[in-house]
Amino acid sequence: MPFYLLMKKRLVILGATGSIGRSALDVVSCNKEHIEVLGLTANTQTDALGDAVREFKPKYAAITNPDAFKTFTGAKDISGVEFMPPETGVEQLAAHPDADIVLNAIVGAAGLKASLAAVKAGKRLALANKESMVIGGDLINRAASESGAEVIPVDSEHSAIWQALIPGRKSEVRRILLTGSGGPFRQTPREDFDTITKAQALNHPTWNMGAKITIDSATMMNKALEVIEAVNLFRVTADKIEVVIHPQSIIHSLVEFVDNSIIAQLSHPDMRLPISYALFYPERRPAENGHFSLSEVGSLTFQKPDFDKFVLLHMAFEVVKTGGTAAAVFNAANEIAVAAFLQDVVKFSRIPDIVIHTLDRHTVISDPSLEQILEADRWARETAGKMLG
Ligand code: NAD
Ligand code: MG
Repeated sequence: MPFYLLMKKRLVILGATGSIGRSALDVVSCNKEHIEVLGLTANTQTDALGDAVREFKPKYAAITNPDAFKTFTGAKDISGVEFMPPETGVEQLAAHPDADIVLNAIVGAAGLKASLAAVKAGKRLALANKESMVIGGDLINRAASESGAEVIPVDSEHSAIWQALIPGRKSEVRRILLTGSGGPFRQTPREDFDTITKAQALNHPTWNMGAKITIDSATMMNKALEVIEAVNLFRVTADKIEVVIHPQSIIHSLVEFVDNSIIAQLSHPDMRLPISYALFYPERRPAENGHFSLSEVGSLTFQKPDFDKFVLLHMAFEVVKTGGTAAAVFNAANEIAVAAFLQDVVKFSRIPDIVIHTLDRHTVISDPSLEQILEADRWARETAGKMLG
C-alpha cells in the first residue's frame, strides 16, 4: 500500500449540509479506513449539521449564520466537538493546522475567503465552490504557487479535464471541450422563457444539485462560470475552450491534443466520483455503485450551444477577455438575480438582463486585490438589487 494511504487523511468540509457536502460525507463513509472528518460547517441548516456531527464526530464545527448559531442547541452539547465562532469559523477551519484536505462546498462568492485561507495554509483544496475560482482565480493561483498548495477541481467537467490532461503535455493541448447537458430548456423556444416556472427550472434533466446551481444550469450561467473556472484553473486562454452540448451527461469533458487525439472521461452523472477523485488523487478508490455499461447507455449525442438563446454563456467569453473585476460583477449580479427568481420576485427571463445591465454599469479594475474584488461584489449586489423592483 502506498505510504500516503497508511495515514488517515483529515478532512474539513465547508458547506457540509449541501448537495456536495452530503455526497462528500457519503464518500467518507465508504472510505473510513483512509479518511476522517476533522471539521464541518453549515450556514443555516443546523439540524442537518447536528446529524452529521453526531455521525462523523468531527473535532470542530461551525455555523456561519450568527442567528442560526444563537438559536441552535442541537449538537453543541456533544462532547469533544468544539464550535468555532460564526464570523471566523470557516476560515479558521480552512487553515487549521491539523487539516490535510479542505473541501470547499460552500455556494457562491461567500466561498472565496475560505478558498484563499486553505491555499495560503498549503492545504489540498478540493474545490467545488467554482465561484471562488471564477472571481478570485489569480489570487488563489498566486497563493497556491507561494505555499505549494494543490487545488483539485471537484466540478465534474473540470475533474474530467484534469484527468484527460494527464496523457499529454500542456504544450500539446489544442482544445478543451467542456460539455454541458444544455439544462431543462435546451429545446424550449426563447419566446417561452417568460412563462418558465420555478418548478420547471428546478427540474434538471440529469443532475440532482443545490437550488442555485440548478437555476444556473437552466440559464446556462453554470456553463458560463465553468468556462471562466477552466481558464483560471488550467491557465489557458478562452479561445482554447469550446462548449459542447451533450444532453446525456455521460462524457464529463474532453481534451483534444495536437495529433487530433481526443481523451474523454465517462461515467454516470454522480458527484461522488469527482469528489472521491479530488480527495484521494492520485489514488483511485474503488466504488461499488454506478458501474458503467456502454451498451446500456446506448447513444451519446452532441451539438453546438445556442448562444443567442443562452446569452450569459456567450458573455462569459467577453468577461474572460475583460478580466479584472468583471467576473466578480458577472457572478454577484447573477447571485442576486437567481435569489430573486427563487423568491418569485423576478421572472426567469429577467435573470440575464439583470446580469448584463449590472456589468454594463461597472468600471473594471484590472489585477484587483481581494478587497477590490469584495468591493466589486458588494457594488454588483447593490446595483443588481436596485433593478429588482
Ligand atoms: P447547496 O446549496 O446544496 O449547499 C451549499 C452549502 O453551503 C450548504 O452547506 C450551506 O450551509 C453553505 N452555505 C450557504 N451559504 C453560505 C455562506 N454565506 N457562508 C458559508 N456557508 C454557506 O449547494 P451545492 O449544490 O452543494 O453546491 C456547492 C458548490 O459546489 C457550488 O459552488 C456549486 O456551484 C458547486 N457544484 C455543485 C455541484 C452539485 O452537484 N451540487 C456540482 C458541481 C459544482
Ligand atoms: Mg459542472
